[in-house]
Amino acid sequence: MGDLSLLVETVNFAAIKHKAQRRKDPEKTPYINHPIGVARILTEEGKVNDLSVLQAAILHDTVEDTDTTIEEIKEKFGDKVAGIVAEVTDDKHLPKSERKRLQIENAPKKSKEAKLVKLADKLYNLRDLNRATPSGWNPKRVSEYFKWASLVVEGLRGTNHQLEEELDKLFESKE
Ligand code: NDP
Ligand code: ZN
Repeated sequence: MGDLSLLVETVNFAAIKHKAQRRKDPEKTPYINHPIGVARILTEEGKVNDLSVLQAAILHDTVEDTDTTIEEIKEKFGDKVAGIVAEVTDDKHLPKSERKRLQIENAPKKSKEAKLVKLADKLYNLRDLNRATPSGWNPKRVSEYFKWASLVVEGLRGTNHQLEEELDKLFESKE
């Protein structure tokens, strides 16, 4: 399959998998806007043109948040894409606090490809929080999320100057 067909196939797969989900903003934006936006941050701002990284960005929340398995991604999109998605997927069997702690601890050990997806994911989510506060969140929760995200980003540095600079702007505006 050609690169463009493969990319469309990936977006279609993610759209079907996330079809019943919404984001946490008050407007309940369709969830698929997020993975597409993460891939767009990589192309437009990060100047990333590695197809596997863009596919992994589009698929990055399918295993964590839907019934999708890494095996399914491996069969459909191959080992490289499945490997990156596996690297950015939290272990659902662990309690949330442990998953959040492990993201900080494990960030520096990730591959460059996985670090790119994680940087773009954090950038998208922090901008989303600045745009509109999720229903039921108070300012303390937003500020704790920013603090946690900055600790994860510390472990992802040295990967993409532009994305890290955009993240720094957000962190500085919160100080
Ligand atoms: P959550 O993990 O519950 O929510 C943030 C995640 O939701 C993001 O990482 C993103 O993940 C997804 N998401 C969906 N919609 C949006 C949106 N519109 N904007 C941003 N992200 C969105 O947050 P936390 O539990 O981490 O809460 C933040 C802090 O608040 C924590 O540090 C915690 O200590 C504190 N807190 C937590 C409470 C709780 O019940 N968990 C209660 C009170 C305080 P993805 O990329 O996967 O979509
Ligand atoms: Zn995400």
